[in-house]
Amino acid sequence: MSDEGKSLHELPIAQGILESVLRAAAGSGATRVSHIHVVVGDVSGVSVECVEFYWDSISRGTLAHGAAFHVRRVPFEMTCLVCSHTFSPTAAALGYDCPSCGGARVRMSHGQECYLEAIDVDANDDAETGSDPAHESRTPS
Ligand SMILES: [Zn+2]
Repeated sequence: MSDEGKSLHELPIAQGILESVLRAAAGSGATRVSHIHVVVGDVSGVSVECVEFYWDSISRGTLAHGAAFHVRRVPFEMTCLVCSHTFSPTAAALGYDCPSCGGARVRMSHGQECYLEAIDVDANDDAETGSDPAHESRTPS
């Protein structure tokens, strides 16, 4: 495997997602994981292409090998702590003052996420279905 300029940054992220996927799959009696749904913030710095690049090798021999990736992008969003207005800062609006009240007390409310949202699995017919949608999410550390 040549590195093709891929960043090592995504390897532990891919491994973390794999751990979450396998944990969720184990809890649902899955025989195979068919689809993986991840949430990636626009300013998380995570390259989904790189995660997928590593996925094939790290998931080999697991239930999740060959699963399709689905990514939900979350736009960068700030929330004003004064008036609760939410807005998406642009490069032209550095400083992140609230466009509604002009306040400077804002926090990042979305955009840095990177976590597993859900998986779709093929389960045994014997297994009870519907009771557990195999959803799992975790906050980034
Ligand atoms: Zn405001």
